[in-house]
Amino acid sequence: MRFADVILPVPFETFTYIVPDALSAGLVRGSRVVVPLGKNKHYAGIVARLHTQQPPDVQLKEIERVADAQPVVNEQQFQFWQWIADYYMSPLGDVYKAAFPSRLKDGEAPTPKRTRRTIVDRMAGHAGAGITHPLSPAQQTAFDQIVQQWASGQTTVLLHGVTSSGKTEIYIHLIQRALDAGQQVLYLLPEIALTTQITDRLRHVFGSRLGVYHSKFTDAEREAIYRHQLSAEPYDVILGARSSIFLPFQRLGLIIVDEEHETSYKQQDPQPRYHARNAALVLARQFGATTLLGTATPSIETYHLAQDGRYGYVPLTERFRGLELPRVEVVDIKRLRFQKRMKGAFSPRLVEAITEALSHREQAILFLNRRGFSNLITCNRCGWVPHCQHCDVSLTLHKRTHTLVCHYCGAVYQLPEHCPSCHSYDTPPALDTPPTSLRPAPAPLHVSASHDAQERFVPIGAGTERIEEQIARLFPSARLLRMDLDTAKTRTAYEKIVGDFAAGEADILIGTQMVTKGLDFDHVSVVGILDADTMLNVPDFRSYERTFHLLSQVAGRAGRKGRQGTVILQTRSADLPLIQQVVDNDYEGMYRDQLAERELFRYPPFTRLIYVFLRHRDNDILEHLAEDFAQLLRQRFPDMVLGPDRPAVSRVQSLFIRKIMLKVPHTAPPAAVRQTLYDTQRAFLERFAATHVNIYFDADPM
Ligand code: ADP
Ligand code: ZN
Ligand code: ZN
Repeated sequence: MRFADVILPVPFETFTYIVPDALSAGLVRGSRVVVPLGKNKHYAGIVARLHTQQPPDVQLKEIERVADAQPVVNEQQFQFWQWIADYYMSPLGDVYKAAFPSRLKDGEAPTPKRTRRTIVDRMAGHAGAGITHPLSPAQQTAFDQIVQQWASGQTTVLLHGVTSSGKTEIYIHLIQRALDAGQQVLYLLPEIALTTQITDRLRHVFGSRLGVYHSKFTDAEREAIYRHQLSAEPYDVILGARSSIFLPFQRLGLIIVDEEHETSYKQQDPQPRYHARNAALVLARQFGATTLLGTATPSIETYHLAQDGRYGYVPLTERFRGLELPRVEVVDIKRLRFQKRMKGAFSPRLVEAITEALSHREQAILFLNRRGFSNLITCNRCGWVPHCQHCDVSLTLHKRTHTLVCHYCGAVYQLPEHCPSCHSYDTPPALDTPPTSLRPAPAPLHVSASHDAQERFVPIGAGTERIEEQIARLFPSARLLRMDLDTAKTRTAYEKIVGDFAAGEADILIGTQMVTKGLDFDHVSVVGILDADTMLNVPDFRSYERTFHLLSQVAGRAGRKGRQGTVILQTRSADLPLIQQVVDNDYEGMYRDQLAERELFRYPPFTRLIYVFLRHRDNDILEHLAEDFAQLLRQRFPDMVLGPDRPAVSRVQSLFIRKIMLKVPHTAPPAAVRQTLYDTQRAFLERFAATHVNIYFDADPM
């Protein structure tokens, strides 16, 4: 009898099924098959192995049918999946889940007939215009250096090019070069930077040879692209977000990872918690392909590898057409607040700069990394702060909808009419008022609260919604647009805002980090950073590096054409060296400072981090379990274990969380470390099976 080990979209490795004789002929490794699982579930899975060894003691079921005529996973993909599963400590089933569009994993979904043709054919025959822009001399030099470093055996090269240096143009020329050599190209961008601006530009050059792949596409579209890549005439160029590393390739010759420093390349949740940039390097190695990592602000890790000579390095310090970098002015809002000279979130200097821009019919962008109206609200009588019932976070007021929103789990609450802690706005709090730490939960949303209710609570801190309100008061005649997760929920809404602003239909754009990525506006002369401190205060060893990346990106939006732009950077930490480094565009300085700190405290790139997370419904039980687990790890990994700690948000969706940090030296073999972790986990779960504790790992966390 023949058996097949099948990968299914559930968190396990493989399941063994009987191969009925009738199906035997058409089945190979990589075939997609429909199988029953459990009582009445059906999944489409991937055959990983065909064999004749009957597993002992189990009731086996039969494969029901073969879903496609041809295998859908090739040998290279199997190896890649296995690498992801091993390195990121995730079962193969979860890798399959991440790698495949949902319909292909569904046992009930019919094989599509029409969608497949229509989507792919839509672009067919559109040849594209070929290269339209010649490179500038500086760009040409960079291009030549990249090619030369690849040729000399340096397969990964970092292109460190300032904002507006025209990195995209260099990519286009490198893509053309690869296509001329008959190779396929993968061009990776963070999801948020995959705008129509960039797709249109590439479509114009490469026409129907370009396929675009990201999570905003419908499942049918993603399935069509996946299948097209298996065909005899796949797309030559794939422009995509992180999951496009899982597409099948046949002759991949070049991978470009743009904005390589972006932490969103890392999948946080669910498993596999992979880093698409790092995984792309493995993918490139499988194909013997070359890789280009591009950014204006390299990640510390990547820059360190380039300094070490393990990556090639090509700097590009000149902006296209000699544009000047914007002038960055620091405004100390701590002092201004003390002097009571702030108008809401606005310093006099920022108001002045916006006024001037508007008088010249130029545009301004205001950046604040917090959506909603206020950071939190508090009862103006007893100080009560509403918190999410499921998570350990305070709720954000959304004024327009009179709601309180949890930005972690998305729960929406009605703004209470009365403070549930001191009960009434009109009567002073009773002496037996429960302490604020009891945090009575606000009622779940059914009806809107009255406007009066808003008076009873004081908003603390500002979000984009509140900035919009303040700016409308300061500049009543200015036309405003706001771009954040609330106003730009869908791709269409997002593109409309970008389009309207680019067309000059608004004077001021207020936004979260959505405004910083992949956008190129011609008439923006002022960028206001309202509060540079929000990211600095995040308790994470990368918070300074991230702040530098983000502020540099935001600043890069100013003065793209014609004349030098102005950036007004408001901060309460004006004396911090990091702020001066942003002003001076001093990447080296930031890198040196951060690297010294990382070395001192043994963080990446000097160690490899692995986080161990434990989750449980009961906080006290979890406290003990986490201590025990950390103790076991300490015995096995002396001097490497920190914690357990409560993460910044220590409860999400009703589960409490503890984090244990492992700083693994580069000398420790990764496979052995993983094995020890698995063994520890298994022993622990055997002992505490009854407690329903959930344990998972995150390798190279972000
Ligand atoms: P970066 O990605 O380095 O920030 P971009 O690729 O967005 O820079 O280039 C900035 C602007 O300069 C874009 O509008 C781009 O079209 C233009 N540009 C860059 N290089 C060229 C070139 N060689 N010819 C024509 N336009 C160019
Ligand atoms: Zn109160
Ligand atoms: Zn929540």
